[in-house]
Amino acid sequence: MKHYNPENEPQDSRERRAIEPVVCYPVESLVPAEMERLRAARQDLEKVAQVTVPPRDARCFEVPAGHFFRIVSRDGAQVGDLNLWARDNLHEKFYSGKTRALHGTHLSTGDRMWSGFPYLRPLATVTYDTLDWYGWDKFGGSVHDVIGTRCDPYTAKLLSGVDYHYCCHSNLIRALADYKEMTRDEAEPYVHDVLNVFMCTGFTLDTHQYFMKASPVRPGDYLEFFAETDLLGGLSACPGGDCSAKHSSDEAACFPLEVEIFKSNSQALEGWEPPAASSYSRSHG
Ligand SMILES: [Zn+2]
Repeated sequence: MKHYNPENEPQDSRERRAIEPVVCYPVESLVPAEMERLRAARQDLEKVAQVTVPPRDARCFEVPAGHFFRIVSRDGAQVGDLNLWARDNLHEKFYSGKTRALHGTHLSTGDRMWSGFPYLRPLATVTYDTLDWYGWDKFGGSVHDVIGTRCDPYTAKLLSGVDYHYCCHSNLIRALADYKEMTRDEAEPYVHDVLNVFMCTGFTLDTHQYFMKASPVRPGDYLEFFAETDLLGGLSACPGGDCSAKHSSDEAACFPLEVEIFKSNSQALEGWEPPAASSYSRSHG
């Protein structure tokens, strides 16, 4: 947190603070998602698989390139922590920091989930969000953030001194280890910062600390994605439940989440190809 210390304040401090900001990564030059095509493709969806994620636990699921998937709220307000990998290469995984730099702190329809270096391509595109009505609230909060990493037992231990085993980080490790028949030690390095699905978060206006508040999600709400490449997903039903009060403990009411996978029977995707990985030479000078 920032502490104001006037000791070194220069004469022109007011002018320096008054300089207008510029966006770090203007996205005007990005090739946008083909939303018209995706909107057409999602008009004719056929559900081909469904995976239930039990509360305080996680599951993995596969989505073929060109399919859609939804994360659906079922029995009550529940937050989900989403990991994405290229199905055949776990080293290519979702890069929440760069996604945040490109699209802002919270994702919405049309935004993309980018993979890390040296790939840097869209893994998935958000194609529909029943919570798009929420926008921003008076606290500066919104839903589906890419700022909050994931709840984990190391930070829980640091702050409370307790070993808690059902944080999203651990849930995702167990799910990936089971799915890929790895040890938990082998799986851990592949687990990464998440998209916080349905979570309502922001930074406090005074101290700029990360905050959460009760998610506005209700049963039937969903966040829908288009798989830009063959994907392996991992979804944890966070032990924080709706994240209105606590996480990293068994105190919150928790509910399952559904993952629904759809094939499009529309002609709209004819000729569509998965995006290529970055064409940067990788010579690094
Ligand atoms: Zn969590």
